[in-house]
Amino acid sequence: MGTIKLHNKHFKKYISAKKIKIAIDKMASLVAKDCGDEVPIFIGILNGSFMFAADFVRAYNGNCEMSFVKLASYSGTDSTGNVKQLVGLNEDIEGRTVIILEDIIDTGTTLEEIYNIFRHRKLKQLKIATLFFKPDVFRKELHIDYIGLSIPDKFIVGYGLDYNGLGRNLADIYQLTTHKMTNIVLFGPPGAGKGTQADVLKDKYNLVHISTGDVFRYNIKNQTDLGKLAKSYMDKGDLVPDEVTIDMLKAEVEKNVDANGFIFDGFPRTESQAKALDAFLEEKGQSINGMVALEVAEDLLVARLLKRGETSGRPDDQDESKIRNRFNEYETKTSILKNYYADQNKYFGVDGVGSIEEITERLSSVFDTL
Ligand code: AMP
Repeated sequence: MGTIKLHNKHFKKYISAKKIKIAIDKMASLVAKDCGDEVPIFIGILNGSFMFAADFVRAYNGNCEMSFVKLASYSGTDSTGNVKQLVGLNEDIEGRTVIILEDIIDTGTTLEEIYNIFRHRKLKQLKIATLFFKPDVFRKELHIDYIGLSIPDKFIVGYGLDYNGLGRNLADIYQLTTHKMTNIVLFGPPGAGKGTQADVLKDKYNLVHISTGDVFRYNIKNQTDLGKLAKSYMDKGDLVPDEVTIDMLKAEVEKNVDANGFIFDGFPRTESQAKALDAFLEEKGQSINGMVALEVAEDLLVARLLKRGETSGRPDDQDESKIRNRFNEYETKTSILKNYYADQNKYFGVDGVGSIEEITERLSSVFDTL
């Protein structure tokens, strides 16, 4: 398999074990040549370098000592810049040739720390060997003596390197994939047919359908705290407060980390929900591809909703004043989202009057372009 999943992220194979071995063999013979009769002490920086160090010393042709120190600087996928103190060096290194074995050097923060620590140790010489080097993000004026492979600024795991603890055991190097989702806001006033259409389109396009109205109704049915809170608003046809709705939406998205994308139905309904959605998706390297709106005149919709109320069991469908209030909420708070997405060239209006199949057809021709 070329791709793997660690925690909630996907990684694809990037550098093979074979290519790593070739790079290490080359480094080891270069170091051996430079050392001549000198017996160096190799110091591996844990945890990441354990595998590199093991393979490096096996490829090293000559006498050498091997030791490890700990100096962790990573948590998550960004360099935190917080470098800890060195622990575990017991050897007397005064007057010796020390060669640091690093798994990866990116910004150079760790490297700087190493230089600072060893500067006072009266070494004969200090050299740095790193298996991977990211020249694009290296920000220090520090010398690196041996580089195995220079790579672009991608987050990598495997061969000793981890993502939040996982992946160190992999023989190959993997890189983070940012697989692009297709995220569509299916828009339109109450009763426009969003739910019906989303049901068909989610299968056709292999997307996850999230209807905030359905999630609220599910919570009401199961009498959860969220359901109890939402009920008081929904029964009147008012919108549930943004904060509650946004948190709920995020939780629904998080439940589907493997999704190819989402059809958002009934969300966003206010500008602050739209902004929160954009920010949330951006954090994930994703975005909204488009808002696809079912355009239907209000008069037609009231009749439709009252008819639906005969069978849907929804209290908010059964009373014309509640329906009118939902339209009022739509007009005052939600319809402005047309401009929000139109300003980003992401608004696509579709005539919502016709048979279910006809409308699916019209929506599909927009979905196909997104
Ligand atoms: P729907 O099933 O989409 O017609 O939603 C039914 C009701 O659920 C709405 O009238 C609101 O009370 C509530 N609701 C659903 N989605 C949202 C949302 N995005 N923001 C606030 N309230 C919502």
